[in-house]
Amino acid sequence: MRKILRDLCTLPGLSGCEESVGRYLYQNFTRYSSSVKTDTAGNIIARFASGTEGAKKVMIFAHMDQLGFVVRKTEPDGFLRIERLGGIPEKILPGMEVLVRNDRGRWMNGVIGNKSHHVTPAADKYQVIPIQELYVDLGLTSAEEAEEKGIWPGCPVVYKPRFEELSGTRCYGTAMDNRGGCAVLLDLAERFAAAACDLDVYLVATVQEEFNLRGGLLSCASVEPDFAIAIDVAITGDTPDMAGTLPAALDKGPVVSMYNFHGRGTLNGTIPHPLLVSMAGEAAGELQIPIQRTASCGILTDASYVQLWHKGVPVIDLGFPCRYTHTAVELCSLTDLKELSCLVERMVRNAPADICFERHYG
Ligand SMILES: [Zn+2]
Repeated sequence: MRKILRDLCTLPGLSGCEESVGRYLYQNFTRYSSSVKTDTAGNIIARFASGTEGAKKVMIFAHMDQLGFVVRKTEPDGFLRIERLGGIPEKILPGMEVLVRNDRGRWMNGVIGNKSHHVTPAADKYQVIPIQELYVDLGLTSAEEAEEKGIWPGCPVVYKPRFEELSGTRCYGTAMDNRGGCAVLLDLAERFAAAACDLDVYLVATVQEEFNLRGGLLSCASVEPDFAIAIDVAITGDTPDMAGTLPAALDKGPVVSMYNFHGRGTLNGTIPHPLLVSMAGEAAGELQIPIQRTASCGILTDASYVQLWHKGVPVIDLGFPCRYTHTAVELCSLTDLKELSCLVERMVRNAPADICFERHYG
């Protein structure tokens, strides 16, 4: 999983430009499944059939896109103004290395500028610079040169991809959200290829989660799932600045989101189906894997939209603990990723062929 995670973290894949990550995942899925399809949005759907006609379907999905920026405007002197794509924290940006993709598909090195420290007034040293005032320096000298190099408004920009190992099984990288989830999908592909279960399993790598959260929703029309399991990062509270906020911590096991909600703009969130919560608990007990529970506002995944498809899809958000989310140094533990994969596999294998999510009040 370490190798796969390194491969995945070092591929740029801004929302809407998931080609390089998609190619990698597609090729790897085809090693394990003879039925790998894509839809027009770019979602990748790998099927692992139970062998039984009309079997119930579970969709296990993780988004493959990452947040970043798009070029908004080129200044006459060749500097690029950028717009945020996704929940980018502006305070980390000055001095950041980035890649900008030109209209021929080539990724070019750049940096986000920062006023030279020697001449920064004391009052500015603790100020966050808004995105409108930031700029990317590609080493260009004019707007004409930018055009010649194929740089236009709309060109994608990402944190310069990287992956580094830390002590033990901990590692950090760009877009651990959600290449960690994609690594779990590939691990599950190997597991379900080795032995089928009573359900038809669909592993789906979704697009545009960081943009509008609705890319994964489109894959439901292809899969028609009876229930779904979302895999994404889970925010931890195990650092000095996060103490007292959220209970999840690294190396303490997969995280079950009991409640998430985002009140700004989207007004969406997920309350997991209770049967899926108990299935997760049972699987964890059997495997003797610790699980953590979280409930929080300000968080949302594409599960929120998947659950609204057709007559409704029972969903659960399962996460791997991750620090420093949405920065370029998202940090997680391979142990948690492995345990999350084991947990999801066991949940699905435990599910009876006639699993029923209907609610009864009688
Ligand atoms: Zn995510």
